[in-house]
Amino acid sequence: MTGAPEPRPGLRDVAAYVSPQLDVAARLNTNECPHPLPEAFSKELAEAVGQIPLNRYPDSQMLRLREELSTHTAHPVEGIWAANGSNELLTELLLAYGGPLRRAVTFEPTYMVHSRLCWLTQTDLVQLRLEPPFQIHARDFAGAVAMRPDVIFVCSPNNPTGNTQPLLAIEELAKSTHSAVIVDEAYIEFGGESAQPLLATYPNLVIVRTLSKAFALAGARVGYCLASPQVVEDLQRVRLPYHMSALTQAAGIAALHHVAEAADVIESIRVQRDRILAALQAMDGLTVFPSEANFVLFQTPADRPADRVWQGLLDRGVLVRDFTSVLPQALRVTAGAEHEVDLFLSALQEVLSE
Ligand code: PMP
Repeated sequence: MTGAPEPRPGLRDVAAYVSPQLDVAARLNTNECPHPLPEAFSKELAEAVGQIPLNRYPDSQMLRLREELSTHTAHPVEGIWAANGSNELLTELLLAYGGPLRRAVTFEPTYMVHSRLCWLTQTDLVQLRLEPPFQIHARDFAGAVAMRPDVIFVCSPNNPTGNTQPLLAIEELAKSTHSAVIVDEAYIEFGGESAQPLLATYPNLVIVRTLSKAFALAGARVGYCLASPQVVEDLQRVRLPYHMSALTQAAGIAALHHVAEAADVIESIRVQRDRILAALQAMDGLTVFPSEANFVLFQTPADRPADRVWQGLLDRGVLVRDFTSVLPQALRVTAGAEHEVDLFLSALQEVLSE
């Protein structure tokens, strides 16, 4: 017999995760940092890479990287774990706390990879819907707790809506369940209050972060979590052997030596975000959602279909993300460099007045 192997049931009903990577003047669709890391970082990394014995497996405990993360976050090293981007960390968390016959809850709309990873790990998923301004209220967390979940995802600031969640809601979820409450703080450096102070009281809380956004390291794939030591022990049981290459660990360590420079970049991105918010609010007919992250979600007017606005922007060299499958007429734009935001705003003006 010939032909491709028979996949697991349903596999081919699920599309691969893709976000266009087009060569345009302003790539504002994936919330990357528009500025590269400083030259001193590249030098340090090149030197470090030159000394790595690549004939040997990397440190499976990622100790140096975790120590740097511990200094950076003031969280004990035993409660820190790292992986290839926070996406891999979220996968490991679901392998440990989700899986067949286990249930996860998400508050939608949120980062779509959370639900995708539930499918991947065969975790039963309950998606609770929030309405604008997308905050979790008492009735929402009561609804989540009633589902008797094993995993609860909270994203704050939330992607794609940009709002933060009140710490009280996160605390209530952690207090009322035995589930792993995973707080995705991929955008925390841009705004909002971290749930980190709650870790001391709630060992079922896990905070997931990344160096991909504020620390300009998306290409290296470094994510980490802050949790109780027990969670880190559990993750050790599901991780792949030597999952994080010595090269990736070195990139993470070097980036954490340049956090001071990152602070200036973060501030400049916040300025561009606020500029986008103000400019969009001043344009006729747009619905703009307040944002504490490095992006802004907005809805185009009814007589300007979002897909046509998206295409009109692309024709002018600006790539944004289409979120119409999540919210009608919704587009999300990343706060890029000043000249990229200039281009986006003038292109949008043009497209809307066509
Ligand atoms: N969480 C959220 C909310 C995100 O938006 C992203 C990236 N888009 C990630 C996690 C994953 O980031 P990475 O794997 O690059 O760390």
